[in-house]
Amino acid sequence: MATRAEYSTRPRERIGAILRGERRFFTAADVHRVLQSQDVHVSLSTVYRTLEHLCEKNEATVRIEQSGEAAYMHCEPVHHHHHAICRKCGRVEDVDCTAIGQFAESLRAQQGFVLDGHSMEFFGTCASCG
Ligand SMILES: [Zn+2]
Ligand SMILES: [Zn+2]
Ligand SMILES: [Zn+2]
Repeated sequence: MATRAEYSTRPRERIGAILRGERRFFTAADVHRVLQSQDVHVSLSTVYRTLEHLCEKNEATVRIEQSGEAAYMHCEPVHHHHHAICRKCGRVEDVDCTAIGQFAESLRAQQGFVLDGHSMEFFGTCASCG
């Protein structure tokens, strides 16, 4: 049996806690840096694997940064929503998806295209940066 101390240093627990701590996207390198500052030494590939695992379990979401790097955020996509990302501080707000119904209707009427899925993200300035 693992002791409590051992349990809390398991990479998956630590990485989950780091993601839950801040509403922003982290690259694997970001997470790796935070772990090292907490004196938790795991390889970058363990960090990658763990982040992928959290996504598979629907405990995190991934996006591809402009640099081409994958970045991860704690997100529970229980209900469908989108993300608004602050360009200044990186803070992410959840945004409800309400306008899409109307858009889907006009797409069908004008172009005969039947929408059955979509992905969107929003960029701007958050309340504390604005
Ligand atoms: Zn979310
Ligand atoms: Zn901001
Ligand atoms: Zn939507």
